[in-house]
Amino acid sequence: MRLLVVEDDPDLNRQLATALIDAGYVVDRASDGEEGHYLGETEPYDAIILDIGLPKMDGLSVLESWRRAGRVMPVLMLTARDRWSDKVQAFDAGADDYVAKPFHLEEVLARIRALLRRSVGHAKSEFLCGPVRLDSRTGRVTVDGAPVKLTSHEYRLLSYLMHHSGRVVSRTELVEHLYDQDFDRDSNTIEVFVGRIRKKLGVDVIQTVRGLGYLLAAPTEGRS
Ligand code: CA
Repeated sequence: MRLLVVEDDPDLNRQLATALIDAGYVVDRASDGEEGHYLGETEPYDAIILDIGLPKMDGLSVLESWRRAGRVMPVLMLTARDRWSDKVQAFDAGADDYVAKPFHLEEVLARIRALLRRSVGHAKSEFLCGPVRLDSRTGRVTVDGAPVKLTSHEYRLLSYLMHHSGRVVSRTELVEHLYDQDFDRDSNTIEVFVGRIRKKLGVDVIQTVRGLGYLLAAPTEGRS
């Protein structure tokens, strides 16, 4: 199981990571909201521990953005004990649980175990669109069972479209979710990447909706 810890207090970040590693998890660490947001959007974490007060991007905005992008991993928020409104906002933003600071590491470990248990069978890691299958946990894409090798950027684009299948996704939305703020944003490049993905998949599951964006058909019924 791979976890992400997003916490700007270096001591607390290290303590959490150490406890989780000792408990047998693989742990990535981020020390600000932007870094944490990026990692959570691009990597297939099984659960995330997210501080609410973070530099660059606050924890609630990070969480809201992940949920908007269809990221369904369990998120445990770290909140201030005396701020009940933080807890309400955290749940409304898509948090699955919270721990108030200061906390005992054992409680965090127990809550992570519970989140991982509950997420089995609820949060689907595989997305289907016709013959195309995308496993968001392993990053594997197959067409009729045959693996397709995509670059990480192509994968993120396809993954985003598959997360939002059944509705039109604009190029602007794709640019916003696929590039960091420093990147030279040019929505025309999206078209180039979509073209490459279509070529690699060999099946035309990505429809262009003229003037609006792209549409993947809603997932096929049954298997998942
Ligand atoms: Ca903090």
